[in-house]
Amino acid sequence: MESGAGKLATTDGFLADAVVQGSSLIFVAHLVPGYFAASLSQPEWDSGWTPLQRKVLWAAALSSTVIPDADVVYNVIFRGFFNHSTLYTHSLLIHLIPVLLWVLSKFIFNWRYGAMLFGLIAIGGLSHIALDAIVHNTPLLYPLSDQMFGTGPRQIVEHGVVGYLTHPFMLLEIGMIAFMLRSLRNRFLVV
Ligand SMILES: [Zn+2]
Repeated sequence: MESGAGKLATTDGFLADAVVQGSSLIFVAHLVPGYFAASLSQPEWDSGWTPLQRKVLWAAALSSTVIPDADVVYNVIFRGFFNHSTLYTHSLLIHLIPVLLWVLSKFIFNWRYGAMLFGLIAIGGLSHIALDAIVHNTPLLYPLSDQMFGTGPRQIVEHGVVGYLTHPFMLLEIGMIAFMLRSLRNRFLVV
């Protein structure tokens, strides 16, 4: 994300840096539910699953939380502006696909690994659009409707990232990240 700072067309200097720092924070905050979904579900992971299968579960849990914003990252790095170019990744309808695959794996095919994989992907994607809906509204029914749904405060909805950076939600997301870092520290701390 840092490399995109100088390329932002709509802002410059300090503001561009603040926007990039802020959007990096949003990005990291999205990882938090995926991290805890993988971490808390681990006792349910089958002992017969290979290390590669376990790595895939971790990768799926974490990447599914941030992939909906892939278009924003792409735009900042390669096209020099900060915006969404597709709304599909923030539609509830798209995120029902992994939910459906989870249901099929779990209840029809009795495929435990698939159920865990699709379950983690579903949690990652749904947590992303849930957080977005709370913070700045999101087009949950796209492409059926362009209407934005959520509880986003006016300050953020009207002023975008700049409004977000000065809103108390920022503290909430910093708190979420701190909570994840604390758990990570406990996880890897050698006592
Ligand atoms: Zn998003």
